[in-house]
Amino acid sequence: MNKVPFISKEKAEQLASVYPTPWHIYDEAGIRANAKAVKEAFAWNKGFREYFAVKATPNPSIMDLFQDYDFGFDCSSMTELMLARAVGASGEHIMFSANETPAEEYAYAAKLGAIINLDDLTHIPFITKILDGKLPETMCCRYNPGGVFTMSNGIMDNPGDAKYGFTKDQLFEGYRQLKELGVKHFGIHAFIASNTVSNDYYPILAGQLFELAAEISRKLDIHFSFINLSGGVGVPYTPDGVPNDIYAIGEGVRRKYEEILVPAGMDDVAIYTEMGRFMLAPYGALVTRAIHEKHIYKEYIGVDACAANLMRPAMYGAYHHITVLGKEDAPCDHKYDVVGSLCENNDKFAIDRMLPEIEKGDLLYIHDTGAHGFAMGYNYNGRLRSAELLLRTDGSVDQIRRAETARDYFATFEGSPFYENIDFDAAGC
Ligand SMILES: *Cc1c(COP(=O)(O)O)cnc(C)c1O
Repeated sequence: MNKVPFISKEKAEQLASVYPTPWHIYDEAGIRANAKAVKEAFAWNKGFREYFAVKATPNPSIMDLFQDYDFGFDCSSMTELMLARAVGASGEHIMFSANETPAEEYAYAAKLGAIINLDDLTHIPFITKILDGKLPETMCCRYNPGGVFTMSNGIMDNPGDAKYGFTKDQLFEGYRQLKELGVKHFGIHAFIASNTVSNDYYPILAGQLFELAAEISRKLDIHFSFINLSGGVGVPYTPDGVPNDIYAIGEGVRRKYEEILVPAGMDDVAIYTEMGRFMLAPYGALVTRAIHEKHIYKEYIGVDACAANLMRPAMYGAYHHITVLGKEDAPCDHKYDVVGSLCENNDKFAIDRMLPEIEKGDLLYIHDTGAHGFAMGYNYNGRLRSAELLLRTDGSVDQIRRAETARDYFATFEGSPFYENIDFDAAGC
């Protein structure tokens, strides 16, 4: 698939004159079209709900778009719960799927009426104590099948090495305890492979979870109200990848539902998903300017963004496609490392990448940063987080988060005797 930027060079330059680069920009039209497709693909299931994984893009203006589709929010920390509440979500529109969960976060999730997804058997006495024995009517447990998960197209992941979830035996024990504690309705959740670019992942996972839920329901005589397929539906980051077809995925899950749940008398079970990447990655980009070129043993282009703005290449060696704006049709006849400013040699957005000749001042459009992009930002080397912009469906652009300033960066030193010596004028703030 040819990767085409959703803004032109002219638009990007116009924006850059108001919002200095770098910034992340999101495409409302793309986000909405995809959200609508997700809803349609699972419309066969009466209770279907996507809980957008807040960690992927924790911005309330983005989260708010999903409310038009009656989506909920998957949260895993105090601040993510606070964001969900801030956009007006409560009750069953919040899924709380945390691990190593602090007591106060369970308490707050319960206060918001969120559906709580327990990560471990020992969390049952833990939360029972926090909530004074008054557990919510509906609760969920996270399953870890262990071993190695493989699919016919070579996709694999390693649940046996993952810190999450209950073993199968623990799951039976967990539901038994929860039932005894008065819980009335149950959910089951599993996340076993990440960024799967395959229409088979959800159907395979659904098959396994449906069988398991049917077995547990039969043996323990409990009622499952939902089955949560969690996240893991991927996007192709390389231009030669074929995107997932969400309609084929929805249909694959429907077939398993008919095959397994309906005969088990479980035809009232709602399907939940917690996609982050699939909901946002392709609809966000990082725009950064080339500010240096360097010719040593290799050819380098230095840009004004760095791994603090997009960590995936540095952290996972992840590929992100790059378009040099205005040179979309120029031949890719130059080989570059495109690098940021961190004093870390892994701060490279691209290595040995064939690109058009880049001149200082060119704007580079780094594709597919809408999920796990800005969100994974950090402050190493004292680098600051960028602004986030939203391209509206009418072509206008809103700043949905301003860039971090040196004042924000130093705010946690307030009260220190050195705070008053900080030269904020140097950074113009
Ligand atoms: C990260 C995460 C997700 C979202 O995963 P994606 O791969 O972005 O779809 C969903 N649920 C949980 C519990 C997660 O930790």
